Parts: sequence; C-alpha cells; structure tokens
Amino acid sequence: MPVIFVGHGNPLNALQDNDYTRAWRTIGQTIRKPKAIIAVSAHWYIPGTFVTAMGWPRTIHDFGGFPPELYQLKYNAPGSPALAARVKELLSPVSVGLDHSWGLDHGTWSVLVHMFPEAAVPVVQLSIDETQPAQFHYELAQRLQPLRDEDVLILGSGNLVHNLHTYAWGKHAVAPFDWAISFEGEVISYLLAADHKPIIHYETLGRNALLAVPTPEHYLPLIYAIGLYRREDQVIFPIKGIDGGSVSMLAVQLG
Ligand code: ZN
Repeated sequence: MPVIFVGHGNPLNALQDNDYTRAWRTIGQTIRKPKAIIAVSAHWYIPGTFVTAMGWPRTIHDFGGFPPELYQLKYNAPGSPALAARVKELLSPVSVGLDHSWGLDHGTWSVLVHMFPEAAVPVVQLSIDETQPAQFHYELAQRLQPLRDEDVLILGSGNLVHNLHTYAWGKHAVAPFDWAISFEGEVISYLLAADHKPIIHYETLGRNALLAVPTPEHYLPLIYAIGLYRREDQVIFPIKGIDGGSVSMLAVQLG
C-alpha cells in the first residue's frame, strides 16, 4: 500500500470541484482499495499520542467563518476499534491513548470526501504529539510500517508550506511568494533523493523554511509519510503548487 501526504489547504475544498479535489479523486481511484485508513491530521495537534477508537467517529467542523453548507457536511465513515488497538500495540512503548471524544476533523474529511466519496472504508485518526520534535514523529511512523503490508493506507494531511499571515483569502488568484516556491522545490529535491535528514531538521534550512513553516503542525504529517518510506517506493507528486500565495498544495505519494 502506498503512503500519501496531501496538502488540504482551504476547508472549502471539501465543497469544490477544482484541480486539487480532482487529483485527490484520481488518487482514490488509482491506488489499491485500502482495508482501512489511518489519518494523521494537522488539526489534531495535542499533548500526547492518541488514536480514535470509537465505532463511528463524528465529523468535526473545527473552523469558523465558513458558509453553512460546510457545517452541514458529514463524512460518515466507520471507525475501527480493532485498528486503534493494533496501532497502540505497534507504537509501544510510546504511550498511546484510546480516544472516544475526537472524531474526524476537516484535515481528514475535506480530503476523504473526494478521495473516497463512498465513506465505506473505516478511518481512524492518530494525533500529533505537540510536545515532541520532528525526529520523534519520524521514528514513531516507522513503527507503523507493517500496516502497509496489511492494506492499511496511512494518510498525512497538512501543508508543506502553511503561512496564513500571508495567505490571500479572496477569490482572486495571487502570485506565490518566492520563499514558498523555493521551499517547496527544495523539499521536493530532498524527497526525490530520499534524503530525509534535512526535511526532519527543517529549522536548519534557513529563511525560506522559517517563513514556510512558522508553526510545525501542518508540516509534521509529511514527516509521518516519509517515516514510512521504503527504498523500493517510487516518489510521485500528484499535485504541486502554491495556493493563495503561501499555502503549498503539494501531494506526495510514496509507493
Ligand atoms: Zn489545515
């Protein structure tokens, strides 16, 4: 099973038919059909590692100021208490809490409504421990490696470049910032070379990285994806490019 990282971008993508959402749809139609999905979303960034363990995760509308249709949207995929228990076991000795209160946040469902519109594949979410550095997340992801052989799709959902201070929310297209293009290009080169060290230690990459990753939560889902990389994987980019000047919509497929 491949591993996928997607840039989810604006929550309105959930309702739209655009180049990004069509590419997500194509991914869902072209990869093997997963038995289950583990989603690592930028929007579950909390102290500690938790996995959703309920039978039917609710759809969480974790944003403000969007049109009512977006709040009515529900993604009614089942959960998988059995997969949650398996994740807990694989990640041991790291303590993993079985969660019964979260659900699916928009980092997960705004993409899955396009990738798997039938909502028939069970989904669990894995939180990102905000107290830990990128290296910890890279190593944690490696322990999930056996699941790739069990038809489980691991999906990281964030944005490689995510600077909302400079994001253009209006309808008009704006030119991407030079630092956003440069950082996306730099990380693509490292991904193609399977040179993960600079990606993990992105703080050492200078000004472009500082502007592209002002906070880590949208970047770390990529670290989970590369932690699951295998030497034989091909590295492809179903989506490249910058939205609103400063949000990279880069999608990465490994395998
Ligand atoms: Zn987001």
